[in-house]
Amino acid sequence: MSDHPIGRFRFMDTQNVNLDGFAVPDPTLGLVAFGSAGDPEPSLVVEDGRVIELDGRAEADFDVIDAFVAAHGLDLAAAPEAMAIDEVAFARMLVDPAVPRTEVVRLAGGMTPAKLARALAVLRPAELVMAMTKCRARRTPSNQAHVTNRSDDPLLLAADAATAAAFGFREIETTVPVLGDAPSNAVAVSIGAAVGSPGVLVQCSVEEALELELGMRGLVSYAETVSLYGTEQIFVDGDDTPWSKAFLTSAYASRGVKMRVTSGGGAEALMGGAQGCSMFYLEARCVALARAIGAQGVQNGGIDSAAVAGAVPGGVRSLMAENLMVMLRGLEACTGNDALMSESDVRRTSRTHPIFIAGSDFICSGFGSIQRYDNMFGPSQWNAEDLDDYLAMQRDWGVDGGLRTASEPEVARLRERAVDAVRAVYRLLGLADFDDIWAAQAVDAAGSKDVPAADLMTPLAASRLIRDLPITMLEVIDALAETGFEVEAERMLAMLRERVRGDYLQTAAIFDEQLRVLSAVTDPNDYAGPGTGYSPTPARQVEIDAIRQQRSVGDIQLEQERSRTEALQVSAPSAEAGHDPREVVIGLSPAAGRAIWRTLCGLTVVEALDELLAGLEEEGCTARVVRVNDSLDLGRIGLTAARLAGSGIGIGLQAKGTALIHRRDLAPLANLELYSVAPTLTRAAYRRLGINAGRHAKGATPEPERNPYSDEAIEARYHTTVVSLVAIERGCVVPGAPVETMTLQREA
Ligand code: CA
Repeated sequence: MSDHPIGRFRFMDTQNVNLDGFAVPDPTLGLVAFGSAGDPEPSLVVEDGRVIELDGRAEADFDVIDAFVAAHGLDLAAAPEAMAIDEVAFARMLVDPAVPRTEVVRLAGGMTPAKLARALAVLRPAELVMAMTKCRARRTPSNQAHVTNRSDDPLLLAADAATAAAFGFREIETTVPVLGDAPSNAVAVSIGAAVGSPGVLVQCSVEEALELELGMRGLVSYAETVSLYGTEQIFVDGDDTPWSKAFLTSAYASRGVKMRVTSGGGAEALMGGAQGCSMFYLEARCVALARAIGAQGVQNGGIDSAAVAGAVPGGVRSLMAENLMVMLRGLEACTGNDALMSESDVRRTSRTHPIFIAGSDFICSGFGSIQRYDNMFGPSQWNAEDLDDYLAMQRDWGVDGGLRTASEPEVARLRERAVDAVRAVYRLLGLADFDDIWAAQAVDAAGSKDVPAADLMTPLAASRLIRDLPITMLEVIDALAETGFEVEAERMLAMLRERVRGDYLQTAAIFDEQLRVLSAVTDPNDYAGPGTGYSPTPARQVEIDAIRQQRSVGDIQLEQERSRTEALQVSAPSAEAGHDPREVVIGLSPAAGRAIWRTLCGLTVVEALDELLAGLEEEGCTARVVRVNDSLDLGRIGLTAARLAGSGIGIGLQAKGTALIHRRDLAPLANLELYSVAPTLTRAAYRRLGINAGRHAKGATPEPERNPYSDEAIEARYHTTVVSLVAIERGCVVPGAPVETMTLQREA
């Protein structure tokens, strides 16, 4: 680019998307989404039931990942058939509704990482959507929330966890800015989640040993941050091996804690260990490893490195293909849309949308249900800022993205109860005392900045006691039951029982609100083309459709009634033609002063009239106000007024604010000046229109007024209201009714 770019490019440079980084593809650094020259040719050689070659590498040269996958990750019975299938043929099976999910999952089980990576790279974006619709494990889609805050405030955590549960999240993940606060966070979020809904799973993502300890004490019910990588070097750098990860995984499972691992394309490139391979191939190794170590599922699709994948051509497509790969390995897919990948609302929506319409086990592996600034994982792809957008998107497409509208009174009630419950438990267990001001702020807060009363040492002190006493979830449940929170105590005890039962250790398990396990076993995805698979129940569809912003004509009518005034009255049942050459007549629409009192820009009809009259007065004109009752067409209204005016100039004013200047010799659809965009108008604009009408009356040719500058989504914001207002206007039209003369009580 030149040193002095032209205005068009200076302007484009200021757009949000240009805050994002974009990389020239560089396979040596792993900065390539699919198909690096460094990726191996798929191959599998088995001898006496033992893998002796995997993806071009002989057993003697296996790294730790090859060795583990070769030993535990492949279905050798399916392998000969699977490895022989042409990759395009397999890709076609993925989108063919006649081929069931179980069949493609069976075949994928026999494919090496390089083979599966090649087949999925064939899929176009729309084909990924089709394949994901069919291949996810669970029939019912769901969503996961982050609930964190910068203060680790237990009251706010509980209130926000209850809020997240009310909005429909079935897994809630918390973490800490201060590691020592973790036990308190786990307890507070668990209590809050139980207040919000039965059966919400809770995780506290921290250092591995502490997280396992929290799990063993029953303080959390799932874990998902055991990280896998696609090259041996990164494992070595982290003092880990696939065997240590497998041990940790089984440690969780042995205590009835649901457990999935985390990986994601771009991580190796970010850590300088991609070894010349593509992101997608390395992720294929991670996913094969996840299957091999016995994890229930995988959280992938970039996660912390989503922006790295997003920086290369095809990177966003590879993120979705990663998720599909998890599904094909028969695992639960927690499909990214987690760390914020772009500052551009367009790019981040584009990244999520195909997964959103396809549906997955968890659309987001971390929707920031709290505000961006309180998200201690870093801002998410979706945050509290976007909750209403997300709910509107569900409604637009009629799809189940796992969330639902929660009413303000209900959320207020739940937040108060969550705060009360944590106060009661912490007091009874001697963990902390919270004062009323802190509690009230936490109930009302939209984020931790709204809780200045929080004492930042409280969670640390409470956490020490939880670890030292020690306190398990049973003590917390006891305390709830003793302090009047029997419902929550029962819900949390039920979760502990479920851990013993272990049904939610099945693939893709969540609980519904009746505490039934929905999993690949009890709720298997049975999509087989149009008319099959998941669709929301009628009750769920109502939940999706009934967002809090929807309004009926009746709602608009009630709103208008609140602006009713006596300032505008009928003074005569008819109106005569005037003869004063300086007289201008203002014609109102039938609903003005009858059913509609406020225009779309927020001014009342009386205020708009007042400015028009003042403008005419400035030009030394006289004015009359009439109401045209037989038409809602503004041209007809303006022309009728013009024909009554001594000057032959009329102003038409619709009750919703649209206005024009007409002249008696013009055709009805013609006019001299027009404000067509009523929501953008102001007092000054109406004043200027009045002045210009006066100038026309005096025979001058003023510079026509124009709609003010605007780049707002005027149609989106007002068209539904306009439909209602027009319906109200039409209801006031009486064919053949005479024009009425009106009086206006002018403002002082
Ligand atoms: Ca997560």
